[in-house]
Amino acid sequence: MELSQFKPVSKLITRITRVEKPLFPVFDAHNHLGLDFGGGWDNRPLSELIDQLDQVGVARYVDLDGGWGEDLLNTHLQHFKQPAPERFLIFGGVDWSQWPERGNAFTQWAAGRLRAQHDRGAEGLKIWKGLGLQVKDQHRNLVNVDDPRLDLIWETAAELNLPVMIHVGDPVAFFDPIDETNERWEELAHHPEWAFTSPPYPPFMHILDGLARLVMRHPKTIFIGAHVGCYAENLIWVGALLDRCPNFYIDISARIGELGRQPYTARRFFIQYADRILFGSDMGPDPEAYRILYRFLETDDEYFNYSPAPLPAQGRWHVHGLYLPQDVLEKIYFRNAERLLLGHQDL
Ligand SMILES: [Zn+2]
Repeated sequence: MELSQFKPVSKLITRITRVEKPLFPVFDAHNHLGLDFGGGWDNRPLSELIDQLDQVGVARYVDLDGGWGEDLLNTHLQHFKQPAPERFLIFGGVDWSQWPERGNAFTQWAAGRLRAQHDRGAEGLKIWKGLGLQVKDQHRNLVNVDDPRLDLIWETAAELNLPVMIHVGDPVAFFDPIDETNERWEELAHHPEWAFTSPPYPPFMHILDGLARLVMRHPKTIFIGAHVGCYAENLIWVGALLDRCPNFYIDISARIGELGRQPYTARRFFIQYADRILFGSDMGPDPEAYRILYRFLETDDEYFNYSPAPLPAQGRWHVHGLYLPQDVLEKIYFRNAERLLLGHQDL
């Protein structure tokens, strides 16, 4: 038998808790309704989606897929936001492909687009991981995450009270050589296009240091670092940036696989930074993915699969629940997101 065929079944007899519904109504601050995320939801009756969210206690849902073209944002606003304004928030984006053509006028143009998106009903700005990895300026040079030419975009977001959901980098192992020591080898074998081996890509820490400088330089802009501040493997680093920057928040989307294999550190981190952490799934409106997150946050179940798939795609390890205290759960499930994204109280 080859190692790739090995699918061991744990013989541990421990408690298995099925959490049908979360302890508090959930505000999912990081998710998608676009085509790439089991989407096509804009072609199905909205009631189907709402029923699915009701089943698992999701009261509000951030759809990061408003994009940057007129059509996409309008489609998402018309199909989701307008019929159910209290259930959905749609985020817009920046069209980096315009930079080479617009040259020095790019930032002014992009800030203007942000205003237009806000006027139409976008409630935040989503920055995809291409910034720092692929985005190029008019001279075909790679643009750093904290490039000062972009300052006007972040200042405009602050002025319009639009939070910036930012994802830079990716799992650290995606930047490492793809050899027998790479902990995401199996995932990269299935998705070679996810490898950002450095060189030719910039080193992981070059990108993350750029994120830290960006957040520090714009204290009036709210940044939400996607996927545990873009560095779930190193909660010391994320905690240090949270300590330094009151304008920095994080979401927990798509990283239980990292958090749940360092459960003592993660539990302390969640309790210490309970006011700065937002719930997020990033798995589309999938009920089973939500239930795994609830189990992870609420129970002390041990050594369970962090994915709805039989073999977890991010790595063949299992996770442990954090059994967070109720007041912490309340903040992470919805209070922090209400404060940040709906302005329910002063920041
Ligand atoms: Zn996402």
